[in-house]
Amino acid sequence: MKIRTIYCPYCNILMEYMGTERMQLGKSGFFTENLSNILSGAMTVSIYECPQCGKLELFRFKKTKRK
Ligand SMILES: [Zn+2]
Repeated sequence: MKIRTIYCPYCNILMEYMGTERMQLGKSGFFTENLSNILSGAMTVSIYECPQCGKLELFRFKKTKRK
């Protein structure tokens, strides 16, 4: 996947790419009830962190459409 160039909105410096993380959206069904068709209970996000203030920026990791 492509790494984006993102600047911290507070510090105006380049944010560091931290990698991807798989996030569970809960198994109770509260979240997954509406989104299960799309997410099937979890999603993968790309994480960027500002080395100065620690602000985190998350981006949804999009799968390529395939049938
Ligand atoms: Zn910052």
